[in-house]
Amino acid sequence: MSTEREKPIDAGAATTRRHFLSVSGAALAAVVAAPAMESQTARPAGKQITSPDHHLQNETQPGPTNPAIEGENPNSVWAPLSDNGSVQPFKYSFSLSHKEIDSGGWTRQVTVRDLPVSKTMAGVEMYLTPGGIRELHWHVQAEWAFVIHGKGRITAVDPTDGGKSFVNDVSAGDLWLFPGGTPHSIQGLGPEGVMFLLVFNDGAFNEFDTFLLSDYFHHTPKEVLAKNFSVPESTFDKVPTEKLYIFQSELPRPLEEEQKQAGEGTGDIDGKFVFRPAAMKPTKETVGGSVKIVDRKLFPATDIAAAIVTVKPGGMREMHWHPLSDEWQYYVSGKGRMTIFDAASAARTEDFQAGDVGYVQISRPHYVENTGTEDLVFLEVFPNPVYQDISTAEWLGHTPARLVDEHIHTGEEFLKNIAKKEAIVVPL
Ligand code: MN
Ligand code: MN
Repeated sequence: MSTEREKPIDAGAATTRRHFLSVSGAALAAVVAAPAMESQTARPAGKQITSPDHHLQNETQPGPTNPAIEGENPNSVWAPLSDNGSVQPFKYSFSLSHKEIDSGGWTRQVTVRDLPVSKTMAGVEMYLTPGGIRELHWHVQAEWAFVIHGKGRITAVDPTDGGKSFVNDVSAGDLWLFPGGTPHSIQGLGPEGVMFLLVFNDGAFNEFDTFLLSDYFHHTPKEVLAKNFSVPESTFDKVPTEKLYIFQSELPRPLEEEQKQAGEGTGDIDGKFVFRPAAMKPTKETVGGSVKIVDRKLFPATDIAAAIVTVKPGGMREMHWHPLSDEWQYYVSGKGRMTIFDAASAARTEDFQAGDVGYVQISRPHYVENTGTEDLVFLEVFPNPVYQDISTAEWLGHTPARLVDEHIHTGEEFLKNIAKKEAIVVPL
């Protein structure tokens, strides 16, 4: 290697000599030799021309930067050397969404319009004041919910069970599921109202475009309403001419009183549409963290499977993928990073924190590593009633060690010692 070649690469760095000395001889040789070896053509897949402390001239960024965004996304600023090529962005933050604020609370959504890769699921955050009502409504898609904070009252009528009534109270940590087409409502309770996440099994879902009771009645001829219910037309004189959507009201009456009144004639179905994960043991617990998997086996009403994952500092949701469907993620607390490998040498790493949405397409392998100092808690949600995954360790641990060694050259000893059961969160 000639000095002629070294000079042009490092000449522009402000502190050439100091940086030059800080890089090990071998690393520097590799870095400096690369452009010469590749001649004038594009760099080979997966090979980035970079230095460990990013001091090279080709790594400088003289233009504008956004230090706050870069600080939250270190793996975008300096990607792992294994990242390569074009993987569609798989992260969006609720903090970037338009927030619609109404008298009874607010809402915002992340759909395929915001995050184009998220074709099969969409999410909504909503807060309802004490007494605030999300208007009686329905939609084509199934609605899966996770209560983030506070307490609320949910109602529905079950079309599959003779029109039985469902009225129930939920609090932080609880889940609910309303199948597509099932009419329902949500109301905030005291003292703090309720904040929750909704996930729908369609990326094109639009929270601002659902079937509302007030809108439905306003757009039905008054004489038809009168005939339908066998009452005078004047009964409907005060039907609102504009949608209510999220509006402030009084707190509801006592739960038992409302359950009894609404269930007259058909009875009520009490717990069918609600699931309380606080009452279940983790599906799996390891040194690295724990997971609670809630799918149709435990929650028969659900069309949407989910995993509630806690990863301790230093731990990682192990390398795996999902053969049945895409995965929609919501980050509840902590910090993490995820790499998605997308075949044809493409891989990308993005960073996540509370309030972020992540998305993984069907059968793309990924891991989620806790990169912070506190527990990382996130939700994996699937547009499918059954949870399914295959872990990389499970795959390699149950394939002849001789065969795997011929691919990745790790030695058979390592392969024979891979844990025989899926860890979900590592270390074991
Ligand atoms: Mn809904
Ligand atoms: Mn996953």
